Amino acid sequence: MYKAPIAELPKSVDPIRLAEQNRTLEGVVPLKGLARFREAVPGLQDGSECHVKLSFYQDSERRRVVSGELSAPVTLECQRCMTDMHTTLESRFDLGLVINDEQAQRLPKALEPFLFEDFSADLWAMVEDELLLVLPPFPLHERDECPAKEDLEALEPSKAASEPEVKKREDNPFSVLAGLKTTKH
Ligand SMILES: [Zn+2]
Repeated sequence: MYKAPIAELPKSVDPIRLAEQNRTLEGVVPLKGLARFREAVPGLQDGSECHVKLSFYQDSERRRVVSGELSAPVTLECQRCMTDMHTTLESRFDLGLVINDEQAQRLPKALEPFLFEDFSADLWAMVEDELLLVLPPFPLHERDECPAKEDLEALEPSKAASEPEVKKREDNPFSVLAGLKTTKH
């Protein structure tokens, strides 16, 4: 079945109007279009994009809120083996739309402030901020998937260091069962 490509998320919107209309926007943001993100993730692949869904509404206190979720498949460099690591950056967030610091201070803890000016909010900057928040500062493959796993094991202290843990297991009536399970191949 043909699946229509999802349109780009608009860059600039009037968030007040969207909140009053209870609108939900869904779209993609090309990652190469985000300068700060591009700098943080060198070697970004052409065509990689972030899928975003943003719901604008007013809460019971008539605060303008945007609840969003995003997901972006990216290739980072594993800092252990220095090869490609495929991962998906994901985030869910609730932002209070504010026009100044005073409004930001009054927001409840559950809402992070998002500042906008002149009836215009930069949604791409919003997405970029959230992506940078979930970007791992020190990306590492899952241990078993890392090509440098063997080097890592060679560096680790020998079995002697883990002996106390083995003793503890002997006191456990289930340790016999656990032993059977692990010795069976
Ligand atoms: Zn690795």
